Amino acid sequence: MLLGLELLTLHFSEPLAYFFAIKDKRIAEVEAEGYKPVSIIIPTYNEGDKIRDKLLNVMKSYPLEYAEIILVDSSTDNTTEVAKSLGIPIKIVKEKERRGKIFAVKEGIRNASNDIVVITDADALWDDPLIDAIKYLKGEIGAVSCIKRSNRGTENAYRNFYNVIRLSESAVYSTPIFHGELTAFRKSLLSADEIPNAGADDSSIATLIALKGYRAICTKVRAFEYSPKGLDYFSWKTRRGLHLVRHFIRFLPKVMRSKNRKYKAIFLEEFYLHLINPWFLVLGVVLTAIYLPKLFLFLLLVLLIALVIPQTRELVKAWVPNQFFLIMAQFKALRGE
Ligand code: GDP
Ligand code: MN
Repeated sequence: MLLGLELLTLHFSEPLAYFFAIKDKRIAEVEAEGYKPVSIIIPTYNEGDKIRDKLLNVMKSYPLEYAEIILVDSSTDNTTEVAKSLGIPIKIVKEKERRGKIFAVKEGIRNASNDIVVITDADALWDDPLIDAIKYLKGEIGAVSCIKRSNRGTENAYRNFYNVIRLSESAVYSTPIFHGELTAFRKSLLSADEIPNAGADDSSIATLIALKGYRAICTKVRAFEYSPKGLDYFSWKTRRGLHLVRHFIRFLPKVMRSKNRKYKAIFLEEFYLHLINPWFLVLGVVLTAIYLPKLFLFLLLVLLIALVIPQTRELVKAWVPNQFFLIMAQFKALRGE
């Protein structure tokens, strides 16, 4: 009964093989052609304590004369008052009730006056100038996003792995996963009504743009995101996982029908990584524990050592729980939550 061991080997070697196969690919640098008018959409729900820093960060990142800032707000706190107190021109679209981020995003897109639309979460801050991302928006590139860093070491270990994958997939062709910290696209290529009313609006935009024959890429512009701690981290990761699981299931049939083989290959690899590969860890552990108990104890020891060594510690702490979050997310998706 070596199946358990084979599943475990597959679980760890497949992502690593993918990582090493593409990790050095990077999209060619392009020169910025100067500032273009952009519409920056910030969906807000009770961001009174964050919106000031957010707007200051946006102003530092792009000249205000070229930016139309749109707040789509359903807050019950002082978010809009704080925003107005900065004294800069801001278009505030007030929602009658809280309907979820996706509805706010789509309302924002409908209200945008410029072709380049940038969507960004209120709790995210950009480390780099926005121009370094949107300068890529021309020709065959229809959408751009960022890479991420967090306040938590464990989350960063996970990010550092996936940041490389996002950038490399973008150089190969297009990445199916985008980030809410910075999602920008050309409105002339995609209308609000085409975006499904579901979570993962960012990744939906990336995939819809790719299905239209344009590339959706992550750029080296980095965004900071605050990750919650403790139990909140657990539910946060599971919710994110749920959105991604749903995203991959929703778009699988459309991507399978598409003739773009490069995109299909990347999408299927990510589908595998998020929906199938996590199960091999669980099944592998269970089967090894039952049929090869000595080997199981040995692997447990290896895991403990990896948790002690600083170089591998955070990666193990990020990777292993994340597989469980993704499996939890599948159960939630099945239960229709
Ligand atoms: P997370 O990063 O996935 O945990 O999601 P957040 O809670 O940070 O939400 C992302 C962005 O969407 C933030 O700017 C929120 O204020 C905003 N947001 C979340 N839910 C709603 C909503 O129902 N309506 C509006 N207008 N904005 C929302
Ligand atoms: Mn957030």
